[in-house]
Amino acid sequence: MSITIKGLNKIYPNGNHALKSVDLEIPTGMFGLLGPNGAGKSTLMRILVALMEPTSGEVNIFGYDLMKQRKEIRSLLGYLPQDFRFFANYKTYEFLDYSARLSGITGSRKRKERVEAMLESVGLFEVRERYANKLSGGMKRRLGIAQALIHDPKVIIVDEPTTGLDPEERIRFRNLLSEVSEKGVTIILSTHIVGDISSSCKHMALMNRGEVSFYGSPEEMMKRVEGKVWQLKISGNELPEVDKKYPVIATIPSGTGWEVQVVADEIRGYEVLPYPPTLEHAYVYYMENELNLWTND
Ligand code: ADP
Repeated sequence: MSITIKGLNKIYPNGNHALKSVDLEIPTGMFGLLGPNGAGKSTLMRILVALMEPTSGEVNIFGYDLMKQRKEIRSLLGYLPQDFRFFANYKTYEFLDYSARLSGITGSRKRKERVEAMLESVGLFEVRERYANKLSGGMKRRLGIAQALIHDPKVIIVDEPTTGLDPEERIRFRNLLSEVSEKGVTIILSTHIVGDISSSCKHMALMNRGEVSFYGSPEEMMKRVEGKVWQLKISGNELPEVDKKYPVIATIPSGTGWEVQVVADEIRGYEVLPYPPTLEHAYVYYMENELNLWTND
């Protein structure tokens, strides 16, 4: 295990109980932390990178105790926060060089080599003279990854990295993360976007309201909804009723009516066909059942 978390609690000064006795084992490789807004993901990330102290609990990262060995742990970790900003007036190259200096790479020759290799590996070498705040959204994210990796950490923590990216940039960014993890860096990817996880993570946890509600592989999570995903053929005026009764995942126009995919233990009163589950279906099933947003009668 690269990270072991035991009984972690965080209560903010205003009384918000953001993490409730979280136990989690994070293996090496790419780990997805999925959950809706407010689930506690950022709180957990900030604690892991030693930016914030938990109220109680234990965290062990590659054998180091987070509460007692913060300095050692900082050198093992890289972080790309959700609201990562670049300093104005820094070119892409200069920004990374500055990050390298901050992380303690002092020799200018060594630093140059490191910065250039990193720019190559994230696909930004060609734009190294461009001002960092003038890069596209996807490029900025890649520069963010480069700064998180510059000191050669064993783990990087990436918070909501694909929000706001267009589909092409999103795929490129996910591929970059997969390449980084293949080089032996553990990546913790926190997201509310199911696609970020299904395409790349071997292990994952689902968080909701400060608790871990699922832990395992995306395939195991999908298995939980086998036999619970249905395709319904309905007429246009049945849609509001179906939407009220069941969590609807997709709505596809079909002839004069609709084909809709829903997740439910059973369906009564409609023409249905079983449908192969995806991680998105499983996520919706968990969320709807846990939050009790709908009743099936
Ligand atoms: P996520 O990253 O999954 O969206 P957060 O960790 O940001 O979740 O938030 C978890 C809970 O903690 C939410 O209820 C949020 O309102 C609350 N919270 C987050 N930051 C603070 C803070 N600084 N002070 C008080 N409550 C907070």
